[in-house]
Amino acid sequence: AYHAELKIGMEPAPGQAYLDAYTSAQRQEFQAKDYRKAAGLYSGSLVHASSDHDSARSLNALGRVNRKMEDDTGSFHYYAKVVSDFASVLDNNGFPYAYYALSSLLTLYESDQTLNILPEVISFLNNLQEGIVPLNNTTGDMLDRISSLTGTLLKDSACTRLVENRIASIDATLSFIKNNGRLIRKSLEQWRSGQSQSRIVEYLVIQGTSSDPGTLVLIDPARPNPTGCCLNLESIWADFIKSGLPDESEFDYSISLSKTEGESRSGNVNLVHYATLSPWFPEFEIRIGLQDEDMIDQFVKRRRWSYGIALVLLLGAMLIGILLILRDIAREKHLGRLRSDFVSNVTHELKTPLTSIHLFTESVYLDRVEKDSAKKEYLRIILNETERLKRMINNILDFSKKEKGKLEYKYENVDVTSLIQSALTELDYWLQELNFTVQTDLSEGMQVPGDPDALKQVVINLLDNAMKFSGSKKEINIRMTPENGWVRIEFSDKGIGIPEDQLDHIFEKFYRVNHELAEGIGGTGLGLTVVKEIIEDHGGKIYVESVLEEGSTFILLLKSI
Ligand code: ADP
Repeated sequence: AYHAELKIGMEPAPGQAYLDAYTSAQRQEFQAKDYRKAAGLYSGSLVHASSDHDSARSLNALGRVNRKMEDDTGSFHYYAKVVSDFASVLDNNGFPYAYYALSSLLTLYESDQTLNILPEVISFLNNLQEGIVPLNNTTGDMLDRISSLTGTLLKDSACTRLVENRIASIDATLSFIKNNGRLIRKSLEQWRSGQSQSRIVEYLVIQGTSSDPGTLVLIDPARPNPTGCCLNLESIWADFIKSGLPDESEFDYSISLSKTEGESRSGNVNLVHYATLSPWFPEFEIRIGLQDEDMIDQFVKRRRWSYGIALVLLLGAMLIGILLILRDIAREKHLGRLRSDFVSNVTHELKTPLTSIHLFTESVYLDRVEKDSAKKEYLRIILNETERLKRMINNILDFSKKEKGKLEYKYENVDVTSLIQSALTELDYWLQELNFTVQTDLSEGMQVPGDPDALKQVVINLLDNAMKFSGSKKEINIRMTPENGWVRIEFSDKGIGIPEDQLDHIFEKFYRVNHELAEGIGGTGLGLTVVKEIIEDHGGKIYVESVLEEGSTFILLLKSI
């Protein structure tokens, strides 16, 4: 369209002789309808033609009258000449003669297919493509008409391909003009009036439009017939750049055209890629860069954050590690101290009964005791002291077996009442000796599955403790009640009690309460450890409730049969 606009009015005005001849020919053709005369006059006008415009006009008229005289060969000859020799000539309305001529050639061909109009069709298409025949709003229809004839018109496939390629290329140009025509016209006007800022060297770069943001249009406005090209930036992105990037990269790139800067490129060269547009636009290069330049900063910031967090976590983990190690060391130290306490406790605990055993045995052996009843009393003391020793040694042995995982049980049905009675019988001597009152409240006939010896040891250890830590109130209560499939046994004393903060520890190995009230009371710190282990091995539970200086209650829960 802009091509046509530039051509209008540039031809010299026709001479008088030409106009005279041409008008009289028109009169013959349209009024007298004497086509032969008209043809003669039109031929005559050709002699006076002073421009391509005159010549094309007369040749076109000759084509037309010859057609009216039904001389198809003659008509063909003239129209062909217009198409091939006067392709760029426009009529007074700015319409190219070649369009009339080719259209008539196609009509002639439709009635007589022996006519060889192919060279003219190809020449017309070539000229359209080259911009010699201007494009206008009828070009599309013309192309359609040619397309519909290709089946009969074209003899071989090479020719078909040639015509099809030409048509496709002209179609592309048409849609380019259709899509960008307004924008191009506006940019050209601005450029011509000196308003345009976007001029690079001699090219005008129109980068995208609101409707087609992915297209970059490059126009050479200095030429009389401006030419240009259109780059689809989205295709460049999708076809060339995206395919070369690793899948997971999520960078937004911007693509633009810029003047070649050579070596002196500024900015962050690493993040921008340049490619020349040679050979057609050596002055330009395509620049592909990060759309969001802050992105790197943000990326670094994000990384810094995640590294910071990782570092803090690492330090935290190290700190926890160190604390755990320190705690372990403290625990080992504590255990070491408990162990050495244990050794001296055991030594002491062994010494006391052994001393009395030694004393009483010696007395009897050396016949220092005369009365039989006194002798018997001495032997009773010896027996009870050895039993106390046995109990203590049993605890130590059970504990060490348990530590080595060698403690084994012989399960049978144990009657709990008998179990408690037999434990009381075993301790009877001491209970009487120390003036204890024991109250029992036992429901009869409760049985639990268990090892009788181990369970007896449990009861004895608890009673032994109740006696040891009784203080001045020598009362022990034993209560047994059924409780939802369990047997609940409570051992209560009115003794010294256990400080609340140490309640959690008393079942630990070697642990002995550290309190002035408990001072001077012997023990190994293993009694309750063994109790808890045996009870838990039997699937039972043990709790303790205690108030300092008021007494303690140990509660056993064992599954009943
Ligand atoms: P020990 O050989 O010292 O009795 P245990 O493991 O049997 O060892 O008991 C641990 C500690 O628990 C005892 O040293 C004692 O301080 C406390 N304790 C146990 N039973 C009682 C109780 N009935 N009254 C008060 N304190 C008790």
